[in-house]
Amino acid sequence: MVAKELGFTTKMLTTPYVKQDPYNSLHMPVYETGAFEFESAEDIAAAFQDKQPAHAYSRSTNPSVEYLEKKIVAATGGRAALAMASGMAAISSTILALVRPGENILVSPHLFGHTYGLFHKTLKNLCIEARFCDLLDYENLEKNIDENTRLLFFETVTNPQLEVVNIRKLVKIAKKNNIIVVADSTITPINVFNAKAFNIDIEIMSSTKFISGGGTSVGGIVVDTGVNDWSGLRFLSTFHEKKGDMALIAKLRKEIFRHFGPTLSPRAAQLQSMGLDILELRVERSFENCLRLSEHFSDHPSIKKLTYPGLASSEYYRLSKEQFNGVPGTIMTFDLSTEDDCFSFMNKLKVIRRATNMNDNKSLIIHPWSTIYSEYPESLRLEMDVHDTLLRLSVGIEDIDDLIDDIEQALT
Ligand SMILES: *Cc1c(COP(=O)(O)O)cnc(C)c1O
Repeated sequence: MVAKELGFTTKMLTTPYVKQDPYNSLHMPVYETGAFEFESAEDIAAAFQDKQPAHAYSRSTNPSVEYLEKKIVAATGGRAALAMASGMAAISSTILALVRPGENILVSPHLFGHTYGLFHKTLKNLCIEARFCDLLDYENLEKNIDENTRLLFFETVTNPQLEVVNIRKLVKIAKKNNIIVVADSTITPINVFNAKAFNIDIEIMSSTKFISGGGTSVGGIVVDTGVNDWSGLRFLSTFHEKKGDMALIAKLRKEIFRHFGPTLSPRAAQLQSMGLDILELRVERSFENCLRLSEHFSDHPSIKKLTYPGLASSEYYRLSKEQFNGVPGTIMTFDLSTEDDCFSFMNKLKVIRRATNMNDNKSLIIHPWSTIYSEYPESLRLEMDVHDTLLRLSVGIEDIDDLIDDIEQALT
C-alpha cells in the first residue's frame, strides 16, 4: 500500500531536522556562526574533499539555512533547493550557472522591475542577450529561437500586468527546442502551484514575499524540480560527471553561489522556515480578501479598469484554475483617471500601507510608474504596459470590511 501523502501544512510542521537537536527545540535554532569546528584534521579534510558532508563555513552552508531548503524540497517535491540572500540573487546566479556569453535567453518584457534591469542592462554587458518577446504569442516565440538559445525565463503571473501565460504551451515549445525552462513563481506560492507537474526544470521564488511569513526578511530560493537529469549539457558536464543529477545544484553551490557569495543569513532562514508553517493559512485569507475586493470594486464608477486573474470575468480565469488551483496570487491592480487621482487616493488610505513589497500580512499599495519603474524612459514603461494611472495592491490578511471601508473612503 502506498502511504498517503501528507497535506502541505502538515508537511511543513513535521519536516524532520537533519540532526536531532540536543535540546529537542521545536523550532530550528538560529545557528548564528561563521564556521564549524571539527574533531580531527582528517574530518575537516574529508569535509573539504566532499567525502563526508558537513557544515564548515556559513557562506556555503549552515544548518538553519539547510533546514529551510529541506522544507522547500518537502513542499515542492523537487530534487534539491538552494536558499540565497534575495530573489534577485537566485535569478542572477541561476542564469550565470547556465548561460555563457554569446548565448541568449527568451523572456517577456513584462517582468518584475529589477529582473528586467538584470536582463536589459547587466546581462547585456556580459554579452548574454535577452530576447524580449511576447510570451503569449506562442507562434512568434519559435521564430526567436536559434542554436544559441539556452533558456526560457518567465513569471507565472507577470507583475504588475497580471498576465497569465499558458505554461504547458510554453514548456512544450521549449522542450522541443532543447531549451531549459526557468519559472519565477513568486506570485503563485508553492501551496497552489506545482512547477514540477508542469515539467519546468527550475523554479525560482523570492522568499521575501509569501514565504517570509509577512515581509519579515529578504531571501530567494532556487529549486531543481527534478524533471531534468542535466546529462548531455556541455556547460554542466564536469559537475555531471561527479554529481550526476545533482549537477545544477552542485554547480550553483560550489561555483556560482560560493564565488559571488549571496548567502542567506541564518536568522532570515529561521524566519522563513517559520513562515512556511503558516503559508497556506495566510494565502487562503489573502486570496479570499483579494477576490472579495476585486468583486466589490470592479464596477466602481471611479475605477476605470480593475485586473485580477482570479475574477470569473478575467480572460485568464480558466488558466488560473488549471495552473494555480484558482489562486493566481493575491495582487490586484486598478486604474484611476489620472496620476493625481492615484496619489490623492493613496494619501487618504488609513489601513492599507504605502509601501513596496508584496504578500506581507498588511495590505500594501504602490504606484509602479513613479516608483519601481521610474528609472526607465516613459516609452519603455508604456512598452512594459506600466501606465501612470495604475495602482498595484498587494492584499493582506486584515478584516475584509475594514479593507472595503478604507478603499471606499479614499475613492471619494
Ligand atoms: C520581489 C520579486 C523578485 C525579487 O526578489 P527580491 O527578494 O526582492 O530580490 C523577483 N521576482 C518577482 C516576481 C518578485 O516579486
